[in-house]
Amino acid sequence: MYDTSGATLLEKKEKPYKKPDEKKTKYDVIIIGAGPAGYTAGIYSARARHDTLILSGILPGGLLVNTTDVENYPGFEQGIMGPDLMIAIRKQTERMGAKIIDDEVVNVDFKRTPFKVLTASEEYEANAIIIATGANPRKLGLEGEQTYAGKGVSYCATCDGPFFRNQELVVVGGGDSAMEEATFLTKFASKVHIVHRRNELRASKVMQERALDNPKVQFHLNFEVEEINGSEKVQEVVLKNNQSNEKTALEVGGVFVAIGHEPSTKLFENQVELDGEGYIVLGKNTETSVSGVFAAGDVHDHRYRQAVTAAGYGCMAAIDVDNYLTEKKQK
Ligand code: NAP
Repeated sequence: MYDTSGATLLEKKEKPYKKPDEKKTKYDVIIIGAGPAGYTAGIYSARARHDTLILSGILPGGLLVNTTDVENYPGFEQGIMGPDLMIAIRKQTERMGAKIIDDEVVNVDFKRTPFKVLTASEEYEANAIIIATGANPRKLGLEGEQTYAGKGVSYCATCDGPFFRNQELVVVGGGDSAMEEATFLTKFASKVHIVHRRNELRASKVMQERALDNPKVQFHLNFEVEEINGSEKVQEVVLKNNQSNEKTALEVGGVFVAIGHEPSTKLFENQVELDGEGYIVLGKNTETSVSGVFAAGDVHDHRYRQAVTAAGYGCMAAIDVDNYLTEKKQK
């Protein structure tokens, strides 16, 4: 809310944000997941004076912890390293009074309120839940993919494309993401090779046409990536034709893997409605099919998948939770 008095918080001597109580197991709000969506939800929820717990899981910070430069998160003129950004957001979240526990949730019960969230060592309760467990890009499962992750192998063209100016690139996949990423990458790359395992694309006609019409794009159908090689960074990709077994080596500076994502929703399968691909289905605003259980970020959004959009969804979910808890209190 905007303060029109012109006074800063210090001038008004506002009470410091409440310090979290270590032994607490009952909260107003539990947020599951600690990427940009979870932390931002935590900031807004704690700031709205709700007792807020974030259970961060085994990779606090989410996917950005595995990223190097982040150039597209507003507020950092020179860009920021992914882990540094997440450490800063985490500290900001804690300063607002949210408690963060780096523990993995092993089970949940959203059938009745208060909702229950279990880790291996503790059972927690809350009146509202925000699920922000994200999604993971599918991997090819190649050794070189792991070796060169962040050194030429990427899972996000929007994030990393501008680092590959005037280079030849490979995009793996035949779906809408692969077409979209390849088309986007032609803004920077000298040439983009789309490698797809079948001779038919899965992508929608319009997305296919956009890539097919682009003179910088070359298709390799019925090909699979067999090796990703290099020294400091990716230098070569070896393709194999799965019909003829013919091998082709391409000299490229980067490989963008766009073979789909898997939302982290196993825990919620029998609790909230999921779509055919396992993403959480939202009803009214950010609420799931269960009243009082909300979702934010890549766990429901397979369209944008950006740190800044995830943070935006975290904010929205926390505002929706605030309204939900206020209405509940008034009843
Ligand atoms: P997707 O539609 O599931 O396509 C994944 C592609 O990767 C498929 O072509 C698949 O091959 C291939 N693939 C999967 N596993 C592979 C493996 N291990 N090795 C090699 N190739 C593999 O995923 P997506 O493209 O990320 O799209 C996800 C959803 O988001 C879709 O509903 C899509 O329409 C939507 N989307 C929409 C837009 C847009 O409208 N602008 C943009 C992006 C995404 P096969 O075809 O052989 O299975």
